[in-house]
Amino acid sequence: MSKIKIAELFYSIQGEGRYMGVPSIFLRTFGCNFRCAGFGMPRGELSTEADELAAVHELYPYPKYESLPLVTTGCDSYASWHPDFKHLSPMLESDAIAERIMEILPHSRWRDEHLVITGGEPLLGWQRAYPDLLNHPKMQGLKEITFETNGTQKLTEEFKNYLDHYIDESYGREVTFSVSAKLPASGEKWEEAICPEIVCEYENYGTAYLKFVVATEQDIADAECAVGAYRAAGFQGHIYLMPVGGVESVYTLNAKNVALAAMKRGWRYSDRLQLPLFSNAWGT
Ligand code: SF4
Repeated sequence: MSKIKIAELFYSIQGEGRYMGVPSIFLRTFGCNFRCAGFGMPRGELSTEADELAAVHELYPYPKYESLPLVTTGCDSYASWHPDFKHLSPMLESDAIAERIMEILPHSRWRDEHLVITGGEPLLGWQRAYPDLLNHPKMQGLKEITFETNGTQKLTEEFKNYLDHYIDESYGREVTFSVSAKLPASGEKWEEAICPEIVCEYENYGTAYLKFVVATEQDIADAECAVGAYRAAGFQGHIYLMPVGGVESVYTLNAKNVALAAMKRGWRYSDRLQLPLFSNAWGT
């Protein structure tokens, strides 16, 4: 039976993108190919918050994932990839994951809830384990899945074959790729973060859309440039702008401006409902 290293598994409301407001199970896998230390920092500077927390953790270990402090800069999911917190994410078999999902679904079975497989970066090596999980008898009532990805990971041949089968043979099942492509404000390099050919291929296996986290005019200009590159490669999906902000004060400052910028370009606006509703706490 396949295993997945799980940083978090919880039930909440999807706060972002296409399924905003939909009750959802979140399965957060461990591991990411990026660090996104530029978020919330002056351009060109990188956050050291995650590393500072790791240094504290070495001296005074936080007992569990949920007891780790939230950060105001850098990746707000840092504990889902930082090697110093790896031991707080257990490796679970599909059976245990499916059981746990039944425990936290309000009716102990799938009804209108959707599954969000997020990270970290969920399309790293875990692609090999998803068929086993999605084929589990307890997952048969599931109709909608979103992979929240940074759009840099190719789908493997095995997983593409599986997705073909999964969508074709099960009427009503829908797969979505919510691609949060990283702009320079994240601190990641453009040539590594903007991968149009990879994202275009996702459209063959479900609905894909792009979601850009922006705070400044420069970020919005970068998003326009990126959209040009994706469109030139043939990308058909919707474009969303979403305000930056792991903390509510930052988010509140720029949410309206981001909404206006999206309207001006005929793009969609995505909120981050986990902030006003739950202050971005772990497990939300
Ligand atoms: S890609 Fe996502 S999970 Fe990975 S470091 Fe960036 S924001 Fe965090």
